[in-house]
Amino acid sequence: MARPADKAVSTGAGGSVEAHRGSLLYFRSDPGSDDSVDSYEYWNDGLLIVANGRVEKAGPAAQLVATLGSDTPIVEHGDSLILPGFIDTHIHYPQTDVIGSGGANLLDWLEKYTFPAEQRFGDPQHARAVAEFFLDELLDNGTTTAQVLCTVHKASADEFFKAADARRLRMIAGKVLMDQHCPEPLRDSAAEGERDSRELIETWHGRNRLHYAITPRFAPTSSQAQLESAGRLAKAFPDAFIHSHLAENRHEIEWVKELNPAARSYLDVYDSYGLLRERAVYAHCIYLDTVDRERMAASGAGAAFSPTSNLYLGSGLFDIAATDAAGMRFAIATDVGGGTSFSMLRTMGEAYKVAQLTDQRLSPLRAFYLTTLGAARVLSLHDRIGSFAPGSEADFIVLDPRATPLLARRFDQSPSLSERLLLLMTLGDDRAVAKTYILGKKASILRTSGTTGTPDDSAQQGVRPRRRLRG
Ligand SMILES: [Zn+2]
Repeated sequence: MARPADKAVSTGAGGSVEAHRGSLLYFRSDPGSDDSVDSYEYWNDGLLIVANGRVEKAGPAAQLVATLGSDTPIVEHGDSLILPGFIDTHIHYPQTDVIGSGGANLLDWLEKYTFPAEQRFGDPQHARAVAEFFLDELLDNGTTTAQVLCTVHKASADEFFKAADARRLRMIAGKVLMDQHCPEPLRDSAAEGERDSRELIETWHGRNRLHYAITPRFAPTSSQAQLESAGRLAKAFPDAFIHSHLAENRHEIEWVKELNPAARSYLDVYDSYGLLRERAVYAHCIYLDTVDRERMAASGAGAAFSPTSNLYLGSGLFDIAATDAAGMRFAIATDVGGGTSFSMLRTMGEAYKVAQLTDQRLSPLRAFYLTTLGAARVLSLHDRIGSFAPGSEADFIVLDPRATPLLARRFDQSPSLSERLLLLMTLGDDRAVAKTYILGKKASILRTSGTTGTPDDSAQQGVRPRRRLRG
């Protein structure tokens, strides 16, 4: 089709423009429980125009194609669904190697599987190899930003940041602070933890697309002195993230009570050390009361609802209605490796079932909001990611609604957007993620075996990567 050059879209100084045509979906606000039509934009035949790694415009193809320069390439995605990349607000990269391990409950699982696996991350080579595998797994699943726990070792965070930076990803991560109630090799001290965190913040926070999260693992594994040091760091670096766990499991809550008899609640422990604010994200938040939820909401802190983890470890059911009633922000997260899938699609499917079990409803539209713009809002990154508003960073994915014979069969029987989204979150997984784009460029999966070697090694040795993203 001839396209008039005089209507060319501005590309910015010397930049490249590319357009992507397919079904297009993004959110402007929370669809809530009634799927407000003002909350999202959807075009069955849409066009996403990307210039210099940012969204220039998104809208109906019928209008926008005519505005493109004659030399602007259009990538045709057929009836695949183009949407902003998924954002996972809570995940542990060192637990890639314990996903699918059993355990009677959270504390048993930590002792038996997680703590032994985490002890290997003092070795930078091991940390780098796992970080490479982990990031490829995220991209393969369409997750373009995540908030990630490392281990107690400084090297585990350094290696993760290096690997994320090499892929030009917007990632949040932090070295775990843990100075008590854990195996000796996984223990720092309040002073060491504070020094290492400070050095990591100075090296990585704000570098390219990276952010640092001050990361006390959870209240029981940090002494009073260490929680005080976390509070000092939070004060010194007001735009750093704070990332931890809260009210996940009943045994854990009893333990917190024993250790902090004066605290009103588990949340109150964090609050008393200055660890509640915007950009503070707490995983789970299952056993909160109204006072806690209202305090979370007032502080700007958010929750990471991790359904596959909560079901797998038998922790409990997140209360969406109570969270909404308090005005508290939350997003949906995988919590690998307590969580059982890297796929945000599968995780949304399990979130839907948790809502069913609590006599509540999580609409498919809202589930997709809570893994894109809603998650960006919990992280206070919504001015950069999670949407196709002009100027947003062009991290986006293409979902193939015909990725499997069953999906294709059901897709053709399901006319509405809502029905199709529900199918994707019920039957979809990494197979449905046809392509992942980072800053407008298709991501390459460089995965090696995951236990040895790195993409850098492959390049040096002239070895072709063993696996690439489909498409
Ligand atoms: Zn976790």
